[in-house]
Amino acid sequence: MIKVVARHFSTRNGSKKESMALKFKRFNKIIAFEKQLEQEEASVGYVAYHSENMEVASISKDIFGELSLPQTESFREELEAWNGRVSSQVFESQSHLTSQNKIKSLNINVTQICNLHCIYCAAGGDGTYGDPIKSISIDKTLPQLKFFMDKLNEGERFHISFLGGEPLLYAEGIDLICEYVLSISKIKNLQVTFKITTNGTLWNEVVESLLKKYKPTLAISMDGSPEINDQLRPQKNGKSSSQAVLSTLRQLQFIRKEIGIVGVHSVFSSENMSVTSAYNFFYEFNFDFMDFMYSVTDENTEANRLYIQEMEKVADLAWQRGGERELRKIYIFDHYFDLLDEQRRLENHCGIGKTLAVIDSRNRIYNCPWTVGRPQDQIGDKTEIFSDRVKTYGETVIERNNCQTCWARYLCGGGCSFVHNTTDNKNNMKKSEFYCDRIKYIVGLSIYYFSKSRELMT
Ligand code: SF4
Ligand code: SF4
Repeated sequence: MIKVVARHFSTRNGSKKESMALKFKRFNKIIAFEKQLEQEEASVGYVAYHSENMEVASISKDIFGELSLPQTESFREELEAWNGRVSSQVFESQSHLTSQNKIKSLNINVTQICNLHCIYCAAGGDGTYGDPIKSISIDKTLPQLKFFMDKLNEGERFHISFLGGEPLLYAEGIDLICEYVLSISKIKNLQVTFKITTNGTLWNEVVESLLKKYKPTLAISMDGSPEINDQLRPQKNGKSSSQAVLSTLRQLQFIRKEIGIVGVHSVFSSENMSVTSAYNFFYEFNFDFMDFMYSVTDENTEANRLYIQEMEKVADLAWQRGGERELRKIYIFDHYFDLLDEQRRLENHCGIGKTLAVIDSRNRIYNCPWTVGRPQDQIGDKTEIFSDRVKTYGETVIERNNCQTCWARYLCGGGCSFVHNTTDNKNNMKKSEFYCDRIKYIVGLSIYYFSKSRELMT
């Protein structure tokens, strides 16, 4: 018997169930979407997605209408044939097969101190994670890096992301680490990439030279226009931090051609729902990417609904401004477009317990940037990996987070284990339906615009 799940998408907000512009219907493995464009009256698009084959197809309004319970024989035959088809094009990301203890993406907390006092700081409110050690020891870190790099094969990728606290408070340390990693990488011809996530308030010659020399991806954390950003990301004395960020952005404009890609990273929550206003503000700076995250700790029903609505407005606006090119400047859409283009099943949302590690300022090794300092999430120390602990991450994140029946699983990859509370033990899971609602809606939007951009629409 055909299992039918048809609904108008609405968020879990108790009494305030408001329909959104994107409507979903499901026929076994096939999900169909109806999308209304606010700005283009009478513009409604219909698209369907085969959740296992990762195929996107144009469908008519009539098929959408009948999708849940197809009465018309030709529609039913067509849908059943597509539903049952096994694609030879689709393939799986291999990251879960990577042997354990082989870290390919390493986050280093070069400092655990910060000059700002963001209201949602993941590092104890002051960048310290409650630890008195303020910056990493380079003498202890270099052998640790060699330990990780020695495990990689010829030509493999190795990514280092510098975090803090505020990492640019120790730009000299970043310089020493980059220099060392590049020298070691030559032995095996490793493909090394760097990223720095910074609050953007610190600009000096050392920072400028670092950006030119190593061309890291630069992600500047800012949550919107100065009026909004200063509420959420003030200096420790409560004063504005935004003027310093704007000054950095101006400096960056002069050297954009000499450095790596530059993007902005914003966090939204019930404290700040102005995604559209942030997008419009950032648009003027011509960032290479914009990452609009929702707080990993906020579970506010109304804020969740508003965030989804705002992301849809931003997608519509970006599409109107410049089609696929502008839409893909928003990181999440770019990410889903890549997976759809490649028909690549993402089975691990992140490399937790497999290919990802975080080093704190004491060179202890953790499984996720949000778990630093939690003994149950420590997976190693210096050049020792706690193999008994790491062995418990054998399955994919889709399996770990119980996502096997979710239609969005191969684009979502099983979601964030920190949000679902499975970083240390999958039996502790508290699946966040807010998170899943957000992801499924944004996946739906991405599929719709992917279809539009590939001219599949009827
Ligand atoms: S949307 Fe939720 S249920 Fe679906 S794959 Fe992602 S985390 Fe799992
Ligand atoms: S569990 Fe979530 S927060 Fe932690 S590394 Fe993975 S995606 Fe990031």
